[in-house]
Amino acid sequence: MPNTKSQSTKTTKRKRSPVASAKSQFEHYRKLLLEKKARILGDVEELEKQSLLNSQRDAAGDLSDYSLHMADVGTDAAERETMLGLASTQQKMVDKIERALERIEQGTYGTCELCGGKISPERLEALPEANTCVTCMRKYNL
Ligand SMILES: [Zn+2]
Repeated sequence: MPNTKSQSTKTTKRKRSPVASAKSQFEHYRKLLLEKKARILGDVEELEKQSLLNSQRDAAGDLSDYSLHMADVGTDAAERETMLGLASTQQKMVDKIERALERIEQGTYGTCELCGGKISPERLEALPEANTCVTCMRKYNL
């Protein structure tokens, strides 16, 4: 990707990019995704807390540091999953949600990743992290 940014010392207000309008268009789904993610992570955190309590009950564990870490999902999420061997289903869902949020950022949200067609609003409403249309889902048995 070519760097078209000017290197001037003082830049004026950024132009509103088309992505920004796409983002507001998908604001509703972004909210759904964030809520869903929070719910899932809440569950995962609960599971892992219990696991820690069980395995490190007498290690005088200060869990506050650990739960701080929890906020930093994404990068070490896979590592945690391996370490604890827990909540892999939830983790997969969170990964899907993360990818959907990225697609919102990129302005490609709501487009089927397989055929490039529109994903119906009804489907997104029920499954905001969906990355394929119903046709492809059935075709490829996803
Ligand atoms: Zn499709």
